[in-house]
Amino acid sequence: MAGNDIMENWLIKQVKLAPHRLALMYEDKTWTFKQLQDAVYRIAKKLVGFDKRLGKRTALITGNTPASYFMILALQQIGVQPVLLNFRLAFAELERQRKDAGVVVMFVDDSLKKQFSEFVKSNENYYFISEIKKFKTGKLKIIPTFEDESIASIMYTSGTTGRPHGVLQTYRNHFFSAIGSVLNLGLEADDQWLCAVPIFHVSGLSIMMRSLIYGTGVVLVPHFDPVKISELLATRPISIMSVVPVMLKRLLEVYPSGGYNNAFRTFLLGGAPIAAAILNDCRQKKISVIQSYGMTETCSQIVALNFADAPSKIGAVGKPLFPVEVRIKGRNHIGEVEVKGPNVARSYLNDQAGFEAKLTPDGWFKTGDIGFFDEEGFLFIKGRKDEMFISGGENVFPTEIEKVYSRVAGIKAIAVVGVFDKEWGQVPCAFVETEKDFKLKVKKLKNYGRKFLAHYKVPQRFVVVPQLPRTASGKVKHAEIEKLLSRDAE
Ligand code: ATP
Ligand code: MG
Repeated sequence: MAGNDIMENWLIKQVKLAPHRLALMYEDKTWTFKQLQDAVYRIAKKLVGFDKRLGKRTALITGNTPASYFMILALQQIGVQPVLLNFRLAFAELERQRKDAGVVVMFVDDSLKKQFSEFVKSNENYYFISEIKKFKTGKLKIIPTFEDESIASIMYTSGTTGRPHGVLQTYRNHFFSAIGSVLNLGLEADDQWLCAVPIFHVSGLSIMMRSLIYGTGVVLVPHFDPVKISELLATRPISIMSVVPVMLKRLLEVYPSGGYNNAFRTFLLGGAPIAAAILNDCRQKKISVIQSYGMTETCSQIVALNFADAPSKIGAVGKPLFPVEVRIKGRNHIGEVEVKGPNVARSYLNDQAGFEAKLTPDGWFKTGDIGFFDEEGFLFIKGRKDEMFISGGENVFPTEIEKVYSRVAGIKAIAVVGVFDKEWGQVPCAFVETEKDFKLKVKKLKNYGRKFLAHYKVPQRFVVVPQLPRTASGKVKHAEIEKLLSRDAE
């Protein structure tokens, strides 16, 4: 596909190919692809009847519910771009993103009623999804084809390094993302992919887009409950589940003695760095975990391990998937990870210049992450460029130090930043969230660090904090820790 190629609308196509296959399961309810289409069309008719104010884009504050999923598809079906927003954002942030997207109408998932009823009541253009029943029914005009450059979804980056950017994700981006994934993970006709990651993130939405392209099922769960999910994985024929490191860690704590169901193939892990100890634990329990690496701008994974290499390449994030290229230019081959391929987005919403600033002169996207390839071509991520600091002439990556200390019992979370030092320029300082009764013994922690880390990487100070500054999706904002520090120093 190149230029402005078109494909038949994926929902229409999949209903032709596999009308009776499972498309979605939520609690005890199931939908085949035909039933999914019917549900989506019912909503689409209401949206058409509601009409004018929808505009080019409509915002959704999604929950992990069928209603939110149907809304996303319904908007796509009538050619309106869904702007997916994170319900954990403060109202002011949501409003900023809504305005940034040039959106008037906003729909909120009914599962968020408590949190949002005031917000919806006080804004005439905001509705709970269930309110669309009240709209008159319009004459349905479904988009017959998906042009590869047209926008399938708009979602925001996590905002870990600054202001979140809205990413314009095209059908072409989603298509090649799904192809890259399946060429690595394989496909069984009755595959079921469990989605407990939020559908307003690309980790979640990409599960839905793959389902439409592959004709396989999604098992959607409203939120991450390790006990319930473990039970589902043990008793239902679920084959794959997407997880971020903290989910995997918590699932391991409640791993059922009889293991998961026979169809279970793997966890697909991504989104953030993981401690090797957790992966080793999985290996001992014979649980397959495929590490992957990607970002909102690449429409999900671009690099992943494969089944054969995963057990022996602990620490690596894998090889570039079939449709994409990854390169690193830098001293000793360590440097910024640059990517190119049909699943890389081409612009930020209302900020083409901001996006272009991240492109190299020959058109590769600079990820802001630092990594290296080993001699066999496996990519390792060392951390973010913005978080790296220099101590006595050596580059220090907080991620590496954080991974080592995240294994310590009693430490719930840790973030390392460089602080000013007369002798070394900067030295690592650790900020930790601890379990309730945990007493921090600095000397012991330093000795522990020396076993795994070069001396200049061992934190010189450990500061207990009630809570680290985080993004709405739970990632630690290192820049804000540094700000706190400089405020202290003033
Ligand atoms: P922002 O771009 O707004 O600062 P963000 O980069 O955290 O936020 P996302 O697109 O949600 O927003 O996250 C992508 C980033 O997550 C990657 O650039 C990388 O830093 C990190 N990441 C993803 N997968 C991995 C992984 N397997 N190992 C290490 N880091 C990862
Ligand atoms: Mg980013």
